[in-house]
Amino acid sequence: MSVRTRFAPSPTGFLHIGGARTALYNWLYAKRHGGKFILRVEDTDAERSTAESMQVILDGLQWLGLEWDEGPGVDGDFGPYYQSERVAIYDRYLAKLAAAGHVYEDDGAIRFRVPDKTITVSDQICGEVSTNLKEQGSRRYNPETKQEEEANPDIVIKRPNGGYIFHFVNVVDDIEMGITHVIRGEDHLSNTPKHLALFEAFGVTPPTFAHIPLNLNPSGTKMSKRDQGALIHEYQESGFLPDAVNNYMALLGWSAKDDQEIFSMKELKERFDLSGVNKSNSKFDYDKCKWVNGEHLRHLPSGELQAWAGPFLSRAGLPAADERVPAALELTRDRAQLLSEIPGVIATIFETEVAYDEASLAKVAGQEDIANRLAALINGLASSTGWDELEIKAAITAAAEGIGVKMGALMLPCRVGVMGSTSGADLVPVLVLLGQAEVVRRLKNFATKLN
Ligand code: GLU
Repeated sequence: MSVRTRFAPSPTGFLHIGGARTALYNWLYAKRHGGKFILRVEDTDAERSTAESMQVILDGLQWLGLEWDEGPGVDGDFGPYYQSERVAIYDRYLAKLAAAGHVYEDDGAIRFRVPDKTITVSDQICGEVSTNLKEQGSRRYNPETKQEEEANPDIVIKRPNGGYIFHFVNVVDDIEMGITHVIRGEDHLSNTPKHLALFEAFGVTPPTFAHIPLNLNPSGTKMSKRDQGALIHEYQESGFLPDAVNNYMALLGWSAKDDQEIFSMKELKERFDLSGVNKSNSKFDYDKCKWVNGEHLRHLPSGELQAWAGPFLSRAGLPAADERVPAALELTRDRAQLLSEIPGVIATIFETEVAYDEASLAKVAGQEDIANRLAALINGLASSTGWDELEIKAAITAAAEGIGVKMGALMLPCRVGVMGSTSGADLVPVLVLLGQAEVVRRLKNFATKLN
C-alpha cells in the first residue's frame, strides 16, 4: 500500500513552528517512501477559522517548499480538501454509525458510545499507551466545585447546532482519504484512543500513528506565538532560507544516527525516518537556527545567493543589479548568518561617502605617527601597477617597510579609511572590488578628515 500522509491544520492562527515541523515530517515521510502528502484543512470551527489564517498557512507551506500532492488548489481524487465542504460525507458516515447502533441522541447532540474495554495505541514514537475510555470519561473534574463528578463518557460527535466535532471528522477524513500514517503533535496522543474506537466502529483498520514530542521554548514551557522564532512568516522577513528552516525544524525532534547536522532537502528526504525521532520534548534555540542558516548561506551556489539576497539589498537601498554584487556577496559567506545581515557587511562597497564608525575612527586617530603612515599607504597604493590581491598586499608591505613598520600597522588605517569600520568583509578583496582610483580617493578623504 503506498504511503499517504497528511497535514491537517485548523486555520485559526498563524503557521507556527510546531505545525510547520509536523508538516515537514509528514512531507519527508511521504517523499522518503514514494508516497503522497495531502493538505487537509480542518475548518469545521466556523467561528475561529479565518481566510487570513488560511492564506498565511498556505503561503508558509509554499515558502518552505512543502508542496502538497493533493489539497487546496491541487486536484486530487479525495476532495474537497476543506472540511467545511465535506458535510455530505460526514452525514453519510454518521448514518453508518447510526445503523450499527453506535450513536444516540442526547439533548440535541449526537453521542458515540465508547466501548468499555482497554484500547491500546501502538505509537511509532511514544510506544504503547492504553486507556479505557468508558472508565476514563465516567468522572470529570469540575473546576467550579473543584471536585470530580460523574460524567457521560460517550463522545459528542455532532453538536446540537448541527456542527460536527473534530474527533469524528478527523477519523472520517483519514478513512476517506486513505491516510496510511498519521504523524502529528503529541498533544493529540490523548485523543487517539477515541479515534481508534471510531475506526473500529467503522470496521476500518486504523493508520499507523506517530506522535511527535512537543517543541518547547528555551525556558521549557509550551512555545507561544510571542516567542522569538515561533511564526514561519517571520523567518522569511528576518532573512532565513526556507531549506535552512526545514533543516533546523528537522533537527528539532529528529536526529540522524551520526553527527551530521546540516542537511539539504534531498539528504533529508533520503534520511528522515520515524525511528530517529526523539521521545523527549525538544527545546527551541534561535541561535542554533541562525547558525544552521549561516551554514546554508555559506554553501549556497552563487546564483542562488544573488537571487535570495537581491530583495534584502534593494530594501537596504543598495543597487542589487550592480555588476560588483556577485563578487561582493562572495565576501559575506563567512560574515552573515541571515540574508538581512548581508547589506550591512557590504554596504560600504556601494556607498560614495564612507560612514565612519566612531570607535574605529578613534582607534586609528590614536595611532602613532598616523599622518605619515597614511601618506605612505596612499603613495604605495597609488603607485601600484597592478590591482589584484597579491599586488595590493605587496604594495602595502612595501609601503610599511619604507617607513619601518609592520604591514599590520597600515592595515587598520586602510580598513577604517576605506570601509569606515574595523568590522565587515575582508579588506583586501574589498580593495580589489572598489578599484585603485576609488581606494585612493577614499584614503585621501580620510587623511583630510584625520588632520
Ligand atoms: N486540526 C488538528 C490540529 O490542528 C490536526 C489533528 C491531526 O493532525 O490529526 O491540531
